Amino acid sequence: MLRTLALLAGSAALLTAADADLILQHGKILTADSRFSIQQAVAIRDGRITAIGSDAGVLQAERGPQTRIVDLHGRTVLPGLVDAHVHALEAGLSEFRAPLPPLDSFAAIQSYIRAQAAQTPEGQWIVVPRTFPTRLREMRMPTRELLDVDRSHPVLFDASYVLVLNSAALKLCGIDRQTPDPPGGEIVKDANGEPNGILKNAPSLIKGLDRTAHFTEAEKLLSLEQQLQRYAAAGLTTVGDRGTNPEQIALYQKLKSQGRLPIRAVLTWLGDNSLPAATLEQQIASAAYTTNTGDSWLKFGAFKLIIDGGMTIGTAYQRHPYGPFGRQLYGKTNPDDRGQLFVPRDQLLAVMRAARSRGWQITTHDQGGGAVDTFLDVLEALDRESPIAPSRSHLIHASFQSPEAIARMKKLGILADVQAAWLYLDAPALERVFGEEGMRWFYPLRSYIDAGIVLAAGSDHMIGHDKNRAVNPYNPFLSMWIEVTRRTTQGQIIHPEQRITRAEALKTHTIWPAYLQFAEKERGSLEPGKLADMVVIDRDFLTCPESEIKDIQPLLTLVNGRIVYRGGTL
Ligand SMILES: [Zn+2]
Repeated sequence: MLRTLALLAGSAALLTAADADLILQHGKILTADSRFSIQQAVAIRDGRITAIGSDAGVLQAERGPQTRIVDLHGRTVLPGLVDAHVHALEAGLSEFRAPLPPLDSFAAIQSYIRAQAAQTPEGQWIVVPRTFPTRLREMRMPTRELLDVDRSHPVLFDASYVLVLNSAALKLCGIDRQTPDPPGGEIVKDANGEPNGILKNAPSLIKGLDRTAHFTEAEKLLSLEQQLQRYAAAGLTTVGDRGTNPEQIALYQKLKSQGRLPIRAVLTWLGDNSLPAATLEQQIASAAYTTNTGDSWLKFGAFKLIIDGGMTIGTAYQRHPYGPFGRQLYGKTNPDDRGQLFVPRDQLLAVMRAARSRGWQITTHDQGGGAVDTFLDVLEALDRESPIAPSRSHLIHASFQSPEAIARMKKLGILADVQAAWLYLDAPALERVFGEEGMRWFYPLRSYIDAGIVLAAGSDHMIGHDKNRAVNPYNPFLSMWIEVTRRTTQGQIIHPEQRITRAEALKTHTIWPAYLQFAEKERGSLEPGKLADMVVIDRDFLTCPESEIKDIQPLLTLVNGRIVYRGGTL
């Protein structure tokens, strides 16, 4: 039966080779081409755009008896949006079994603990899922008193490298004023010399808690597929998955071979930064893939190492100390602390040289300014050996920039993967740490663009399913609204001189990330010959009130000319 259908479809295609499969007409099509032209109609055949232009012109040239015509009634069409930075599997699994609570205040944390206590056998652990203090209303790292809202269970608050325990948990783990700090870690004490519950870099002190989530391969495949479907519903047609290891790479390949990839993915291979340089060099040398191995559905992007920590937890490696507010926000005990550089420069140079010699585009997670400068040193050294610009290598995050670093990026031809949502979510707390002046070069998108640096917008989505409430939110319209307004959750505008235009914001989610992914010739704008990836939205991106940009909803998402999401009537 299938074979008959395929034969019929094949002969039909031969008979009407010039006819489009689908024409979208009566639209306002923002092509994002080099002239940023706006058109009315687009014709699609065999997954590609065959014509784009006026309604009359496209219909006349492309319409055949079999062509399906969709009337857009004046709706706006954008090129399929790209999120250059997600962690799809981790995010998909995070709520695969049960929804996570939104924890944005101390009160919310306490009511979560109370609710868990009511349904957890006495003595068993309660874990408050990953929460960042920069996003709590109190802008303060909790201590054991907050978690002592329940004393009949050991409670653990997870802020990544910082864990906070309640009194019952400290007792269970045998941690008291006499307990020595573990190597490289710290048991933080209060004014009386008692542990205040905060443990830094000390997960080995936790007793009797198995935090490994166990999922079958089928569950992982389903979870990944569903997350990619949620991306399609948000208007995304390509994602860059920024932290894949061999297991995740195999899951993506399996989804593809089973015909279950709803959107395109570009995989970043994340090297394990805890391994010695020589081991990483060996892994790079023996890998069966490098940048651009694959096809337009699934291919490899960059080789990545994480070289510093995070600004939401006070470990990003900065140019300046975190200062006195770091004590409240991150539970720091040393105001001179600048965060952590995980990979020394020489080691980074050796590994990245090996990656370049195997043809990799290279990148690092470099969040603090100190990490940015370190990676730029390495890129300069490699550039002296052979030009780095053709590799389209890039910085990931680079949250704390400087004019000097931007000038070096421009000179070397380095791109940036940027997270607008952190301006929105974290800038209010970070401004308390670094001051207004210290935030002047926080995601300086205007300066990047003026310097001619290609920007790829990415969410760094890693936890949660909802596009607006996830950590981090992956709604690309929220991202573009933040890029255009630089407004925070508290309504303030962070350095308005760094705002960019709507057209530029659209490019950060279309043609520019496509360029970063070596795909600008086949997608990222709507032009004849390119892949038919596009999204029809419910209002005009260019002219709707500015405050509504974040509320724009996709009505149709097309990937390779096929509708993968339908969100309402046109
Ligand atoms: Zn990430």
